[in-house]
Amino acid sequence: MCGIVGYVGSRPAKDVIIDGLRRLEYRGYDSAGLAVVSDGALHWAKKSGKLTNLEAELSTSPLPESGQGIGHTRWATHGAPTDTNAHPHVSADGTVAVVHNGIIENFAALRAELQAEGVSFASDTDTEVAAHLIARETATGAGLSQAVGAVAARLEGAFTLVAVSSTEPDTVVAARRNSPLVVGLGQGENFLASDVAAFIEHTRDALELGQDQVVTIHSDSVEITDFAGNPSEARPFHVDWDLSAAEKQGHDWFMRKEIFEQPRAVADTLL
Ligand code: GLU
Repeated sequence: MCGIVGYVGSRPAKDVIIDGLRRLEYRGYDSAGLAVVSDGALHWAKKSGKLTNLEAELSTSPLPESGQGIGHTRWATHGAPTDTNAHPHVSADGTVAVVHNGIIENFAALRAELQAEGVSFASDTDTEVAAHLIARETATGAGLSQAVGAVAARLEGAFTLVAVSSTEPDTVVAARRNSPLVVGLGQGENFLASDVAAFIEHTRDALELGQDQVVTIHSDSVEITDFAGNPSEARPFHVDWDLSAAEKQGHDWFMRKEIFEQPRAVADTLL
């Protein structure tokens, strides 16, 4: 199961994201990557293998300073665990980067639709269609939140999708269906993650997103809508667990956590 982290605030996004991804390492993964927005341009790095491979890449080819970014640890379902198939995936016009947890069941039809329009694909993943589709929406004037909602409504399967755009500073947008997504509410900064463990060293105030919701975080605000853009609400909660318990979702042992996850695991398998 992959890990997702998004950040907007005044700290270096790269450091917040790498630390968050490290907290999610227990979930297992085969590749890692991140994207930041700086001075109206996207910058990204991704590597197969452990997070240390990504960190080595970042130390030889550093990304510019930024307080806005997304990161991902991948558990490959579509396409081998290579550098190219690692997330983020970037739209052909270089304006939108996405990371994704889950499976887009109807990706083949969407890929064929985009290829018929002349879009060329860089990876073998199901995820890449989302980057091109979101960029197609923003190119016609939609804001990133509206674009992510419109694209999420077309996707079938299980997904948490998180996106940044080079044209929207101080913004990270995510959508979810059948896959977890939580928001960490900070002071002058906000977080997105697949699991609270990614941000509880920064904040313990959180929101749990409901089914088919879109969340837009800025450094000083959070907006939640449904896929059509209508205002919606998420469940607020406070995390009392320490970090080690948070990794186990409040259970004392990983085995107990996994026993309680079995209904969800069966549902995901059936999906
Ligand atoms: N299906 C996507 C892929 O194979 C995402 C997998 C994941 O959840 O990490 O790249």
